[in-house]
Parts: sequence; structure tokens; C-alpha cells
Amino acid sequence: MDTISNISGLDGLIKDCTKCALHLGRTQAVPGVGNTDAELMLVGEGPGEEEDRQGLPFVGRCGQLLTTTLVEVGLNREDVFITNVVKCRPPKNRDPLPEEVAECQPFLKKQVELIKPKVIVALGRIAAAHLLGRSVKITKEHGSLDVLPFNEDVLASIIYHPSYVLRNRNTQIERDFHNDLLEARNIAYGAVAPYQVST
Ligand code: SF4
Repeated sequence: MDTISNISGLDGLIKDCTKCALHLGRTQAVPGVGNTDAELMLVGEGPGEEEDRQGLPFVGRCGQLLTTTLVEVGLNREDVFITNVVKCRPPKNRDPLPEEVAECQPFLKKQVELIKPKVIVALGRIAAAHLLGRSVKITKEHGSLDVLPFNEDVLASIIYHPSYVLRNRNTQIERDFHNDLLEARNIAYGAVAPYQVST
């Protein structure tokens, strides 16, 4: 890992990785995608069924919502880097186990080291808890900032997971999701005029 100096080299390591049991059930590993000079990284908990099939993070309905909301806050999906805490799909979409996260975390740390974002957005409680190394109360802590424990130059922003927003369309949860992402975007790139959400 120390000899890896770019994201494509790291992707190769991730795709060949068999360090934890999640490799047994995957179609393929999902290293992440996007701008390798991004100021903003988004991190979910792990690939789902569609992500496992396509080899890309946040595709399907969750991905569409995330992409739409990124555009609403003035970003294209290609502007940011999107990945997950674990790079292989947990069976039946269960939460990743602590030992799986521990085995996979060097890959995420290396992605942060290479991309050097200003802000990491943790998408949902599970991703936030693993990124921050503590329990997270998402309904109270969404929109808040913390320092990334393994890289104190990077801020961590906690926001709702898009799947939770999909189950709560046209509610305060959707408005919070938009506003929290806008705030993270503004910290990473500087403020833009706020987009009016029609929910
Ligand atoms: S989840 Fe991470 S550590 Fe486990 S096999 Fe996949 S890439 Fe390797």
C-alpha cells in the first residue's frame, strides 16, 4: 500500500482484495468513482445489490437522488469522489461488521491521503459511526461537523443516507438532506446562492 501513488493503482489492489469474508459474496469490489482531486468526498456504508452488479457506488434510486441533490447544490457527480466504508457488498445488505470495516479501512485512508479532500460527507449513521469511531445519533447530529480521526486536516460532515430520504420524500428530512449537503459543499468549495427546494 505504501508504494501506491495514485487512485488507479489503489483501485487495482481493492479489486483483487480478499482480506475479509465479504470478498466471498461479491460480484466485484466497488472501489469508488469521481474526481481524484475533489474537495468533497462522499462515503456510504457499503455497496448494495446494484452497486455490486455495476461496480459503481450509489447507483439505482439512491444514486439518482444523490446525483440530483448534488446538482441542486451546484455540483455535478463528476466533481466529487464517491465511495464506501467497505468496498464489497455485505450479504443481504446487512451492516458491515467491525472486523470487515477494520480490514477495509486502510483503503479508505489511502483514498483520503491521495485525494486530500477538505470535507468528507458521511452518508448515514453507519458510515458516520465507522468514519468517526463512535456512535452517532443521526437525527440529532445530521448537519454537524467533526474532525476525521485518522486525518485531522479533513472535516467530516454527517448527513442522512439517501435511502432514508427516499422513504421520507417531501418532508423535513429531505429538506435537511439538501441543506446539509449544501453546507458541506459551501465549506469545501465556497458559498453559492442557495437553491430553493420545492418539497
Ligand atoms: S470489503 Fe474491503 S477488506 Fe473486505 S475483501 Fe472487500 S476490499 Fe477487501
